[in-house]
Amino acid sequence: MKSRVQKIIANLREFSVVGFLYYLILKLRRREVMIGGSCHLCGACCRSLSLDDGDGWIRNRRAFVAVVACNPEYSCFEIIGADNSGFLLFRCTLISDDGKCTNYEKRFQFCQDFPDKNLPFCGGGLPAGCGYKFLTVIPFSKILTETIDKKNEKNPRS
Ligand code: SF4
Ligand code: SF4
Repeated sequence: MKSRVQKIIANLREFSVVGFLYYLILKLRRREVMIGGSCHLCGACCRSLSLDDGDGWIRNRRAFVAVVACNPEYSCFEIIGADNSGFLLFRCTLISDDGKCTNYEKRFQFCQDFPDKNLPFCGGGLPAGCGYKFLTVIPFSKILTETIDKKNEKNPRS
């Protein structure tokens, strides 16, 4: 189990330069990314996605072959091209014609976690037409804590 600090460091390693700047700007503005909307089962995120091999998004066929050699279950992905940043794009062959996952119960953890709140910081995004959206908000817990702190400052206990 990772500590909170370890989790933050692990997250920072995945961030792109632009994503890291965005992360800092949000921190300065006391904001966090939250996910709004819902999935309408279009299947777009399974038909074009990037894969992370642990050292970042996969950029070439050799890196993908190495992933499949260690994790044969990844052979369900086929390369369909690359995005503007040079990261390979994949299509999952487990998607049915009507956009359903044919391996839903055993789908990958990253499928279960999609869309991850860190995607905007890692150079990733949502597919066109996705029912989810990334929102930047000041979390209620932060507002509550600050309100309580201010109240305590005004009325310190004797
Ligand atoms: S395993 Fe299922 S949910 Fe994951 S990418 Fe493939 S079709 Fe989509
Ligand atoms: S692209 Fe978005 S709306 Fe479409 S299946 Fe994936 S998560 Fe759901």
